[in-house]
Amino acid sequence: MTQPHSAVLHRKVALVTGASRGIGAAVAKQLGEAGAAVIVNYASNRGGADAVVRSIEARGGRAVAIQADVGDAAGVERLFREADDAFGGRLDVLVNNAGIYVTTPLQEVTPAHFDHSFRINVLGAILCCQAACSRFPSDGGSIVNISSLAATKGAAGSVVYSATKGAIDALTRTLSEELAPRNIRVNAINPGLVITEGTRAAGFVTEQLEQEWKAKAALGRVATPEDIAPVVLFLASSASRWLTGETIHPTGGVR
Ligand code: NAP
Repeated sequence: MTQPHSAVLHRKVALVTGASRGIGAAVAKQLGEAGAAVIVNYASNRGGADAVVRSIEARGGRAVAIQADVGDAAGVERLFREADDAFGGRLDVLVNNAGIYVTTPLQEVTPAHFDHSFRINVLGAILCCQAACSRFPSDGGSIVNISSLAATKGAAGSVVYSATKGAIDALTRTLSEELAPRNIRVNAINPGLVITEGTRAAGFVTEQLEQEWKAKAALGRVATPEDIAPVVLFLASSASRWLTGETIHPTGGVR
């Protein structure tokens, strides 16, 4: 089978958080197809993570599934230790994809909802950046944060989620400065609506919403995870070596 990006990440190791389904699963497969050995992190969906590993292996790649809650510091430490054991302590790419979206109108936001969302979506990314940076080789690394169009485009009922993604954009810019001396690039990807198991379960993928997005998107359709994964591959690879601190919006033309 012809694989157009087959050598781009040859000998590289990539860790993708929340890769048992949705965008994370597509990203893990794309990086695996590009030659990276992939750590497929998941929270509870072992079957989904194992299927992603099998899919990468079936194309001649290497992958391992490791369970960990990214919002738990001890869990993240264990995740990276087990990743070290799997692939000899090497790490070149971190994709902070794990995230939750619980939409709640302002008056129903609770401190518990706030804490839970920020713990997974923001603290999780920070903890993984810390662990990854202590492992990236001396010639650098790439961190790709999965943010959202919601960070910059108002979406009624998503005050906490949007705030977590605004924080992701901010930490992307900040860490791009802080880590540049080590040639560690930090960029974000801000998709609009993507049809995933998560957005379906959350009830976002209704006929009406799909029609609205199709009308809004210049390219006239709603995204799939496979539309997003190649953008992550670009940011993970040396093709984007002169980009850091960027937020890229793969939205099909929705502004
Ligand atoms: P999804 O289908 O719900 O999948 C979420 C993934 O994250 C699953 O693999 C899940 O693992 C994992 N996860 C959840 N909590 C975790 C935790 N505490 N620790 C480790 N892993 C955890 O989500 P998605 O729609 O693909 O979205 C992925 C990312 O893209 C999120 O950051 C989301 O905010 C962002 N995004 C999505 C859209 C969209 O429309 N889909 C748009 C913009 C941005 P388990 O299955 O094992 O629980």
